[in-house]
Amino acid sequence: MDKKSTITAAMTKDVPCPFCGILCDDLVIENKNDKLKVIENGCPKAIALFQEELPETSAKIKGKDVPLDDAIDSACNILKNSHTPLIAGLGTDVSGMRSVMELADKTGAILDHMHGDALIRNTLVLQDLGWMMTTMAEIKNRADLIIMAGTDATNFPRFYERVIWNEQSMFKLKNDDREIVYIGNKLNTKSGVNPNGKRPTVLNCETEQIGEIISSLHALVSGAVLDVKEVAGVKIKTLQILAEKMKAAKYGVIVWAPGELDIPHAELTIQNFCETVKYLTRFTRFAGFSLGGNDGAMSAMGVCAWQSGYPLRVNFDKGYPDYDAHRYSTHNVLKKKEVDSLLWISSFNSDIHTPHASIPTIVLGKEDTKLNFKPEVFIPVSTPGIDHTGQIIRTDSVVSLPLKKVRQSPYSSVHSIIRQVIERM
Ligand code: SF4
Repeated sequence: MDKKSTITAAMTKDVPCPFCGILCDDLVIENKNDKLKVIENGCPKAIALFQEELPETSAKIKGKDVPLDDAIDSACNILKNSHTPLIAGLGTDVSGMRSVMELADKTGAILDHMHGDALIRNTLVLQDLGWMMTTMAEIKNRADLIIMAGTDATNFPRFYERVIWNEQSMFKLKNDDREIVYIGNKLNTKSGVNPNGKRPTVLNCETEQIGEIISSLHALVSGAVLDVKEVAGVKIKTLQILAEKMKAAKYGVIVWAPGELDIPHAELTIQNFCETVKYLTRFTRFAGFSLGGNDGAMSAMGVCAWQSGYPLRVNFDKGYPDYDAHRYSTHNVLKKKEVDSLLWISSFNSDIHTPHASIPTIVLGKEDTKLNFKPEVFIPVSTPGIDHTGQIIRTDSVVSLPLKKVRQSPYSSVHSIIRQVIERM
C-alpha cells in the first residue's frame, strides 16, 4: 500500500458531494496531506464522511489478509462456479454500474440495489399509470406551494437551503411567496418555517393515512362534496382550504421520499400523489418530486434501464433481462435460495448492513466496512467523488454530475476491480 501522498495542501472548490441524492455541488474541500476538511457548504453528514479518517486495510480471503490479485482471483472463481449470482448493494457510480451490467450479463446474475424496496415503490407507479415530475431547479425557481407528504427531508440536510429558501430564484420568487405544507406523522417541521418566520401548515396523520388525505384532496379539487367531518383526524374544513390553495397555486409540488413510506402497498399512496398532480394540471402547473437516490441508487437504476431496457430487479440468468419487482428482491432471492453466490457493493457507506447468507459472498466495500461475518472475499474499494472521479445521477434523474477526486487513495474503484474480474473470467 502506498502510504505517501503526492498532495501536501490543496483547496478544491465546487466539489459535488456524493453522500445523498441531492448532490450539492458547491463544497469547498481542503486537503492537507490527504486529510480532508470541509471548509464551506458541508452539512453534518458531508463533514463526517469527507473528514472521516479511515483505517488502512487490505484485501481478505476468509478474514485473512491477502494480496489484491489473490482476492480478485478468488472472486473470479466464485462467480465462475456460480449458476446464478446475486449482485446487490450497488452503491457505486455510473462507471461502476456499467461494469456491473457487463458482469451480470456474463454471469447470468440477478441485480438489486440496497434501497431496492424504496426504488420499486416509485417504479411500480411509473410503470402502471405514469407520472409528471419536476426537478430541483424548477422547485427553486417556480414552486409557490410545496406539499411535503410523509417526509421532512431530514435525510437530505441541505434540501431547504438549496431548493426552498433560496433567494437566487430565477423568477425572483420570494421566500414569503412560498407556502409549505406537511402531511404525516412526527415530522420535524422547523425547516419549513421561512426565514421571515412564516410557519408551514401541518396536517398530522399516521403515515398509512397519507393516501386517504391525498385522495380526499383529489376529490375536493375535482369538485366532489365529502359528507364527513374529518378524514384521518384532519378536519374537512382544513382539507377544503388546502384544496383551494392547490387549485390557486401557480406551481405546486408534492414531495415524497419513497424510502420513508415504509408501509404496506406504499405504491398506492404514491399513485395517489401522482394522480392528484395529473388532475391539478387541468387548472395550473403541478408536479411530483421524489427525494431519494442515496448510495448511487439513481445511477444504478438509470444505467440498468438504459442498458437493459428494464429497471432494477432484473435477472440475466436466461440470457436476456427478465424483470420482476418482487421476485428478484435481495430479500426474496436469498430467502428462497434462488442464488448461489453474492457480490455486495457499497462504496459510499460503510454502515449499510451486508446480508449474511450461507452462500459464497464477495464484498466490495469501504475500508472501514463493519461485517458481522467473514465473507469469502473482501476487497476495499475507493469512494467516488473523494478518491476518484466519476459521474453520478441526482435524485430528480435529470442531472448527471461529474465527481471530483480530492485525495489520493491506495484502493481501486469498483469499476476497476470488476473490470479485472471480467478480464480474468
Ligand atoms: S445535503 Fe446531501 S449532498 Fe448536500 S452536502 Fe449534505 S449529504 Fe452532501
